[in-house]
Amino acid sequence: MKYLYGPVPSRRLGRSLGIDPFDRKTCTHNCVYCQLGNGVSVSANELVEGVPVDDVKDEIRQFFDSGGECDFITFSGSGEPTLWKHTGEIVDFVRTNFPSKKIAVITNGTMLYRDDVREQILGVDVIVPTVSAADEDTYIRLHRPHRDASFDLQIRGVEEFAKIFEGEIWAEVMLVADVNDSEEHILKLRDMLRKISPTYIDINTPVRPPSERWVHPPDEEDVRRICVMLGENCRIVGKFHAVSEEVFEIANLGTRILDILRRRPETAESIAESLSVSLEQVKQACSALVAKKLAVKLPDGFYEARIMDSK
Ligand code: SF4
Repeated sequence: MKYLYGPVPSRRLGRSLGIDPFDRKTCTHNCVYCQLGNGVSVSANELVEGVPVDDVKDEIRQFFDSGGECDFITFSGSGEPTLWKHTGEIVDFVRTNFPSKKIAVITNGTMLYRDDVREQILGVDVIVPTVSAADEDTYIRLHRPHRDASFDLQIRGVEEFAKIFEGEIWAEVMLVADVNDSEEHILKLRDMLRKISPTYIDINTPVRPPSERWVHPPDEEDVRRICVMLGENCRIVGKFHAVSEEVFEIANLGTRILDILRRRPETAESIAESLSVSLEQVKQACSALVAKKLAVKLPDGFYEARIMDSK
């Protein structure tokens, strides 16, 4: 598969079949915690052609026709998926041909100020917008946006979308120590989140190797305190748990693992859980990828593809 990847172990979405609309990092942000590495941000004023839409449809059809299973089809991958011109076309395609499948969009929210973008993703089940900054200074420090993206546009877009969307909103708060974890900032964030009224507020922390080495999560006690401050619907995103029990047959384990690692570093444990294969098999396949110099093992136990799209 060239444009789909996984199913990957998502900490919220179970086994998530990813759709990657871009062949290199394409995003309106360049977040300090981004696991895709440093990149040049792109304008929030224009949609992008991205990968061939008919090929994406073919791959989705092939995946399900060959017995593939997943908990969610997720627009994510190498950047901000709502920049893609064809997001709505793929949503319609899945709804028409695979109506029982759930669709999620992981978004930084910068494009939701546009009517046409909101229209494209209105039919999905879940959107996961980033709501991590409660003021312009924090927004710029955390997300390093393109000059066409701004704090006001982002938050206004998410608020407008929330008014018309009938699915669930799982607002993601990415906490970075000494950037957005002060009590004063969290209280402002809480007020902002109340206007969006999300189903869940998900506290996330940069656990994968981030873009900037100085980026660290707050300590566990602070994360728990912040979770209480944000209210009853706040949850700390924990270890990955598969939502469904179907077993996905893996034709070529090494290739599938490499597909996952090209998008982001993962541990052998999370890959094994996602692909429903034994940890031993995954470790052997990862060792083979390392021996072939296709992947590297990082000091913290994560595996990473040797050639990342965005670097
Ligand atoms: S973390 Fe997401 S929003 Fe931020 S730069 Fe990376 S891809 Fe873009």
